[in-house]
Amino acid sequence: RALTGDLPEESRVGELVRDAHSRFAPVTHGTVADYIPVLAEADPDLFGLSLVEVDGTVHDAGDTVATFSIQSISKAFVLALVCDAIGHEEVHRIVGVNNTGLPFNSVIALELNDGSPMNPMVNAGAIATTALMPGDTAEEKWWAVREGLSRFAGRSLELDERVLRSESASNHRNQGISDLLTSYGRLQGRSEEMVDVYTRQCSLLVTADDLAIMGATLADGGLNPITREQVVSPEVCRDTLSVLAACGMYELSGEWLFEIGLPAKSGVSGGIVAVAPGKGALGAFSPPLDRAGNSVRGQRACSYLSRALGLNLFASR
Ligand code: GLU
Repeated sequence: RALTGDLPEESRVGELVRDAHSRFAPVTHGTVADYIPVLAEADPDLFGLSLVEVDGTVHDAGDTVATFSIQSISKAFVLALVCDAIGHEEVHRIVGVNNTGLPFNSVIALELNDGSPMNPMVNAGAIATTALMPGDTAEEKWWAVREGLSRFAGRSLELDERVLRSESASNHRNQGISDLLTSYGRLQGRSEEMVDVYTRQCSLLVTADDLAIMGATLADGGLNPITREQVVSPEVCRDTLSVLAACGMYELSGEWLFEIGLPAKSGVSGGIVAVAPGKGALGAFSPPLDRAGNSVRGQRACSYLSRALGLNLFASR
């Protein structure tokens, strides 16, 4: 079939999603993240795969209702909310949009670039971006984050208190990064409070289906495919997706784009959201990760589906 244009008919899409799930379920490569103690308890066998089309059709397979903390995937949607609130030029000026080529929690990246957080997908940039959320207090910002991410998901997202406690007790590195940002005059708000809001945003619980719905909202100019609510503007979706293409898959973003050709974001709990503009989005969940922090089964499933469904943005025929 042609590599561009619409998705194949519904039954074929569903078949391919189930096929991707059964093909990659036996893969056992990768390691579950353990630098946040509670994440080490995740069941490595869990594997959920979901594809939501912009018309709201859901195709899924496996553990699609298993909940997990959203972690870094939250960064994509907080970026969209901040762009919607203050404009992408401000985000460009204050945070930046270039890949660091270094791990997501790198301190060197910050030091090498005169304290510029570089982009909203690494921890430094994400904390700086969260600090730009509307609200005069940390509490108001947290409320705006939770409410905004819930609008993307089309349901009220719950906070996992255990994950929050575990990460709060072990996130000295993020506190250091945030203090360093403050020393460069690059953080708006109190360091401790902004790290707390950021840690809360990472502890929101989602499912693979939620991720696909959130991604499909970005795929359709900000219109949630299930609730039909306009969450952010089409321009914000465009700008957010370009940042995801450059920086969404940690320091392996180039390899991901080369292989799969879609803007995407992953997180250390094993989630991936990959967005096919105008068509829909994939949500994957499987805890074992590669060396950069990307779900191994999730990547393989996205790669397979990107080819089978003709989703690669750079393919012209
Ligand atoms: N909350 C995690 C951290 O700050 C998110 C990391 C990730 O998913 O990349 O370390």
